[in-house]
Amino acid sequence: MSIQNSPNVIAIDIDSTIYSAENLYDVACQKLHGVSFYEDGNRDWYDVEDLVERFGENYQEIFVEALSPRHFDKRALYEGVEDILWEMQEYGMRVHFVTHNPDPYVRCPLHRWLKGHFGDDVGLSITVQGRKGPILNRIGASYFIDDSPPNMVVSLRMGIPTFSKRQPWNEKFLLQHPEVIAFDEWEELRPLLLEERTLVA
Ligand SMILES: [Mg+2]
Repeated sequence: MSIQNSPNVIAIDIDSTIYSAENLYDVACQKLHGVSFYEDGNRDWYDVEDLVERFGENYQEIFVEALSPRHFDKRALYEGVEDILWEMQEYGMRVHFVTHNPDPYVRCPLHRWLKGHFGDDVGLSITVQGRKGPILNRIGASYFIDDSPPNMVVSLRMGIPTFSKRQPWNEKFLLQHPEVIAFDEWEELRPLLLEERTLVA
């Protein structure tokens, strides 16, 4: 991958990429359906067919509840993510969050929460249906970070250098797609995305 000294837009997923969303999914599922989200150890939560089979067509209510602004204060950011995203911006990169959320009313509180952690300049695009490709195209994403295999398939097809935080549900996909740059800790992105850049005054 070649790194250029020009402004780049880095598109970043939110849930399970910058903070751990799994506990919130589980609490919401227990509240709404009385069962664990990870029944039988199945952690392939991104598979829509599985979700419909388990919870019916209204499975999205679990996500609406889990990702509600009421629970923002329970979100614990992954270690290092704040430092890295602030540094990216200091080095001239534009941070734009791209997330799937079925709740049309989440935009303002979500953007406020993101700005509170990463500064007023961060962008936010929300897809209600879960299709991120058109957004990546519209914002001219130079890089993409996401934990979801279906989203990574889209960005790889578009030729966008793709990064992914390793999670139990993407382990197999990442083994099959070595072109995705996988990381465990956000600090690992510093040498990949920042060290060859020039600090913007
Ligand atoms: Mg995610």
